[in-house]
Amino acid sequence: MEYVVTKNDIVSGLRKLGLKKGDIVLVHSSLSSLGKVEGGPETVIQALVEVVGRTGTIMMPYPLGNATIAKVFSSMKGVIKSIHPTHSVSALGAKAEYLTRDHDKMPTACGKGTPFGKLVDLGGYILLIGVDQDRNTTLHTAEDYADLPYLSEKEFKYVDANGIEKTIVLKRFPGPHRNFIGMDRIFLAKKIMKIERIGNAMVRLIDAKKMIKVCLDELKNNPAAFLCENPNCADCVMQRGKIKEARLKKECFTPSATSSRVASEPEEMLKILQGQGIKTIELDAIWDKPITKLVPSEIEYLKELFAKNGFSVAGISCKENCELEKCLDIAGFFGGKYVVLPPFAFLQDIQKQKQQFLESLFSMIEIAKKKNIVLLIENRPDTVCARSSDCLEILGKVNSPYLKLAFNPANFAIAGEKPFGKVPPKLRRRAFVVYINDALFSGKPQIPGYGNAEIKELISILRCWCFPGYFCLKPETAAGKEIFNCEANAFWHLLETM
Ligand SMILES: [Zn+2]
Repeated sequence: MEYVVTKNDIVSGLRKLGLKKGDIVLVHSSLSSLGKVEGGPETVIQALVEVVGRTGTIMMPYPLGNATIAKVFSSMKGVIKSIHPTHSVSALGAKAEYLTRDHDKMPTACGKGTPFGKLVDLGGYILLIGVDQDRNTTLHTAEDYADLPYLSEKEFKYVDANGIEKTIVLKRFPGPHRNFIGMDRIFLAKKIMKIERIGNAMVRLIDAKKMIKVCLDELKNNPAAFLCENPNCADCVMQRGKIKEARLKKECFTPSATSSRVASEPEEMLKILQGQGIKTIELDAIWDKPITKLVPSEIEYLKELFAKNGFSVAGISCKENCELEKCLDIAGFFGGKYVVLPPFAFLQDIQKQKQQFLESLFSMIEIAKKKNIVLLIENRPDTVCARSSDCLEILGKVNSPYLKLAFNPANFAIAGEKPFGKVPPKLRRRAFVVYINDALFSGKPQIPGYGNAEIKELISILRCWCFPGYFCLKPETAAGKEIFNCEANAFWHLLETM
């Protein structure tokens, strides 16, 4: 025969958890999790009332769905409801009036002055009957106190105590997906939560004030502590992007990415970049077409799309010498600051070719100057700018603020030069863009930090003198979301470990 849970079972279970007379408790519950309860939801409520007594207070979220216990509770005699468009609660007992008062006058849904904030301040408890941390609304209070970058402002309409329709703008409003479940083991380890079985339900009792402290410590260490790690959870990817963006406010450099390496569709590219906290693009190709092959309407479309989403163009990477002027025009149109020169390969006589390259540079620089756009040479194997000495020679001979370097550490490593240990530091001073590209000396590309290009040392030393240029992600191995995210995550890991 099926066991029937009685009021005494619940009372003794709650007491075992440590709940006692005079306590304030916020209850999240699932009636069915208990199994069959003699007397139904009323029995659970009576057990709660018996344990906390007349001096205690019981609070439950005001039900939006059919959470049976909370639904029955909300319609009980003496229960007071808070007025709120999204996070209303109902309460019964000594502090019920105080807890529910002025909820809609507070600037946030779950922060200071709300029933949740008051529960924390009064040293109350959170009781989870057969539900997990996913239902623990007071975790949003911790997010609110930590002022996490992914919280946002939202507008709601509701009817106030006098029956008047009002509009409220809530600050630091909690977002979509969370990994609150991941906090459970931490609460147990920190001994701020107890678990007991009542009927079939696993019931958790958490000290709200201690919980907030544990959460704030966790979030200080890692603002993404409440987010999931699933790379295909679009919600958490976006929220992580916001954390990364906020992290960058302390930096002088700007992170960027080369468009063709991220995605061929511009809309998808922006989504991927947002997830990495990157808002700046180096344009080379879009829709698998070199930027110079786009028709004016396509270029107009891109400019509007970028502006609408808060993106800007750092510069253009030019593929062909004959298209350099067109690249300068496009850079100007997008408000870009630089154009990377196409490779100037040498065939036989390197000195003669260098001379030719220099001559073409002088005339190009005149055009670039008029448009106030900087030209960049990139060190590349088998070109007139293969080694650091070549780059220094060309930069020195031209000696113009309109010619700088796109520093490619991987290519220096491939040329047998340690980019940090051997390339003269004065060359770093001429860098406008540093590609976050790594490779083995053998030429095999690696994700940043895994090769011989001394990426971490370079990033660190450039941050020491407040490098004002771009750290540009331009994966060499392949293009597309997966490899790009892999390289960007490696870049972020380097930043977070220095
Ligand atoms: Zn998620």
